Amino acid sequence: MNKLDAQRQKEIQQAEELLFAGPQALGFAKGLFQGHFVADWVMPYPRIPSTQQVELDETLKNLRQFLDEHLDAAEIDRKADIPRSVIDGLGRVGVLGLTAPKEYGGRGFSQMANCKILEEVGRRCASTSVFVNAHHSIGIRALLLFGTDEQNQRWLPKLSTGELLGAFALTEKEAGSDAANVQMQARPSEDGSHFVLNGEKRYITNAAIADVLTVMARTPVPGSDKTSVTAFLVTPDMPGFEMLEARMPKMGIRGTATGRFALRNVKVPKENILGPPGKGLKVALTILDFGRTTFGACCTGAAKTCLRLAIDHANTRKQFNKTLGSFHLVQKKIARIAADAYAMEAMTTITAALIDRGLEDYMLETAMLKVFTTERLWECINDVFQIYGGSAYFVDLPLERMMRDARINQIGEGANEVLTSFIALVGMRGPGMEFKEIYDTMVKPTRERGFAKAWTAGKHRLGATVRVPEIPVRSAELRSFANQLGRLIWRFNVAVNRALITYREPILDMQLLQERIANAAMDLFASTCVLSRYDAELQYAQRNGSSSSPDQLAADLFLRQSFRRIRSFLAGLTDNEDKSVLATANSVLSKPSN
Ligand SMILES: Cc1cc2nc3c(=O)[nH]c(=O)nc-3n(C[C@H](O)[C@H](O)[C@H](O)COP(=O)(O)OP(=O)(O)OC[C@H]3O[C@@H](n4cnc5c(N)ncnc54)[C@H](O)[C@@H]3O)c2cc1C
Repeated sequence: MNKLDAQRQKEIQQAEELLFAGPQALGFAKGLFQGHFVADWVMPYPRIPSTQQVELDETLKNLRQFLDEHLDAAEIDRKADIPRSVIDGLGRVGVLGLTAPKEYGGRGFSQMANCKILEEVGRRCASTSVFVNAHHSIGIRALLLFGTDEQNQRWLPKLSTGELLGAFALTEKEAGSDAANVQMQARPSEDGSHFVLNGEKRYITNAAIADVLTVMARTPVPGSDKTSVTAFLVTPDMPGFEMLEARMPKMGIRGTATGRFALRNVKVPKENILGPPGKGLKVALTILDFGRTTFGACCTGAAKTCLRLAIDHANTRKQFNKTLGSFHLVQKKIARIAADAYAMEAMTTITAALIDRGLEDYMLETAMLKVFTTERLWECINDVFQIYGGSAYFVDLPLERMMRDARINQIGEGANEVLTSFIALVGMRGPGMEFKEIYDTMVKPTRERGFAKAWTAGKHRLGATVRVPEIPVRSAELRSFANQLGRLIWRFNVAVNRALITYREPILDMQLLQERIANAAMDLFASTCVLSRYDAELQYAQRNGSSSSPDQLAADLFLRQSFRRIRSFLAGLTDNEDKSVLATANSVLSKPSN
């Protein structure tokens, strides 16, 4: 085995240890990659239980009133600060501890209800929604998921109300997308009572205003010369905590305090270890997974703002003696924003419900949600920007701010390229392992239980390629869409199988192919969520005798456009210019820049 292969094997083994802890129920996304439609996770469209809906409606009412009166997104951007009065107000309304249990001062909301609240914040101000996300979804959540009773008693009540603020510190100069490359060191003291932390973190949201930070640092693995990452709860009053730059000046979400800090011989008591020692990366990835759901909610809110702004302008601005909304090229943009906003909401709701209903492994769905909603939001903002023409460019309208603010979404909490590759590779792992069973038995027929394993694997693979999954919609009007979706899932599965058989191990490095597979999977998931929501709305309308709504037209359009994209991604697997792309890039990259 050469050095590169050995490194690759090590990476795969690390990823497997990190991601696949044990046997779990088949989730929706993993099912897709195996040719199954795991309907129970996505249909019927989830609803918030009526008792919680009452509480949610009340919280939403209070939140809207508070935001109407006190939140000025333009000023937050101009002054590059979220006023403390806004933070305190959000705390009073309950936004800062929504999913924390009531005994810790939180609201005990489900993730679905939490997303509805975050959508409302995201609709108005991206700085505020990123602040809340960093405090709650990746700050407090760290404690909720991994905290001991003692840690929770100590921190959660004040974090839930906003009296204390939280942050999550993973990123360093050498550990950006490559989160496993954390260099911050945590050395145990001789008596084992504490760890001594040294190193620097950068780009940390809330760093300058946080009272407690979840910090990832490298600890020795007992009995070996290896190290692994452990999560620590660090407070800025610990001697040696040095704020290097409290608010790094930046392009967008300027209201958030994004900082750089150093830890210099900071003594952190062992009681402040969060989660199992040495499992900090698992802690980090689990927390980020959860945060990506609220990311989807914030993007949904922002997309709805795009739609409102586009409609307002298209209905009032006249050129060539007509309102802009009468031009087909403007209509095309507005229709697409409506369709995408509908899909983003459906996808967020279903992903949040997966978490609420106890699906253990939802990392594929949350990754898909994050990539899909952030990419669609970027398109939505670009479209509405174009509809506003020159006026969008000036700072008296919110569009240039929205555009600056939205750009971080494709980079933060996992760059979209990294997640895209992750979606394809983790998704293909299931069928890939089955092919491996078959292949290993073919090359070594004497291996123990080889034929039995290969037979089972072969049956699964064959089953998935002959069976078109059935999509159980209740509304007769949607049968045609459901049949088309079933056939596309079947075609997707055939394409994944073909790619695995054709390319085998090298597929791990073929990101252009991975991107098409991931894109097709994301659109299959998005279409499923739209179909589920559309079905529920039609059923509701039938029961109440109401007529068709603009939302149904948007759903219809989304499905048509999404199916077309899926066909095109699958066709691109065999008909593409990848060789030429890579040859050009390599040739350009090998020339020294001048
Ligand atoms: C405003 C802001 C707030 C942030 N808040 C936090 C926070 O609260 N806590 C925290 O820990 N971090 C935070 N971050 C850091 C953020 O998570 C990182 O910026 C992100 O993970 C990317 O890391 P990087 O910037 O080092 O980019 P790099 O890792 O250098 O990547 C640069 C680009 O290279 C490409 N790329 C990288 N790897 C691959 C790959 N394997 N395949 C294909 N393409 C690839 C991607 O296009 C990527 O965008 C924040 C960043 C910003 C800008």
